[in-house]
Amino acid sequence: MTITIGVLALQGAFLEHLVLLRKAAESLEEKDKFTFLEVRNRDELARCDSLIIPGGESTTISFVAAQSDLLEPLRQFVKVDRKPTWGTCAGLILLAEAANATKKGGQELIGGLDVRVNRNHFGRQIESFQASLDLKFLGASHTGFPGIFIRAPIVEKILPNVSGEQTGEQQITDTVVAPSRAARDDKAKAAMSSEVEIMATLPGRLRKAAEHGAEVSAGDEIGDIIAVRQGNVFGTSFHPELTSDIRIHAWWLQEASRALSQSSS
Ligand code: GLN
Repeated sequence: MTITIGVLALQGAFLEHLVLLRKAAESLEEKDKFTFLEVRNRDELARCDSLIIPGGESTTISFVAAQSDLLEPLRQFVKVDRKPTWGTCAGLILLAEAANATKKGGQELIGGLDVRVNRNHFGRQIESFQASLDLKFLGASHTGFPGIFIRAPIVEKILPNVSGEQTGEQQITDTVVAPSRAARDDKAKAAMSSEVEIMATLPGRLRKAAEHGAEVSAGDEIGDIIAVRQGNVFGTSFHPELTSDIRIHAWWLQEASRALSQSSS
């Protein structure tokens, strides 16, 4: 079976993802299994088994996706079909069910991760930084991952898998929610039934766990949440595609491959 991995190529760092995906695939035993595709329209999306939404500018990506009639097919792909999808930075914002600090006039979200993100959490472009990350999910070689943060979002709240009206998300000023959150249909709700897992936090920026709504005991402190997964949907605040480190791309290709072989068996 060949697996087609699409990279949404409307704006942002899609070429960088493709370069790293090819390099990562070369490092795997099952390298001939993967083919890669730039996605700009519905037909290309329909050919994909799995998708990456790159970093860039989420407002622009969502605007171009709306112009290209791609928002609804993307929502179907991520939220109902639950095909393996990974968003980096702007991609994480688009995959969130709610986002705040959005531009005037708002932006549309695809949704798929039951979280609320805070855009530009660390400030402006000039406040971009690099941090060495310990990413336990990578297994044996998990330390020293170069995390590049450029006007990065963080996950500030894990949301319950219920409709938006019940969580009151819409009432928060400056917050946008993905449309199906307002009236989450049964199919999307069932498909999104798995829990949100916190995959990585940023050390050295400790905040009270209670602020995150995370499942940790009161009084515990964890860092800002910078990577989450809910079933097949994965999001990172930072940009592995802007490094030459293939570890996350290699890990994710294997995860996507495993998820797809389970769903077809
Ligand atoms: N802050 C940007 C946005 O809202 C994301 C930045 C990035 O992808 N580097 O889209």
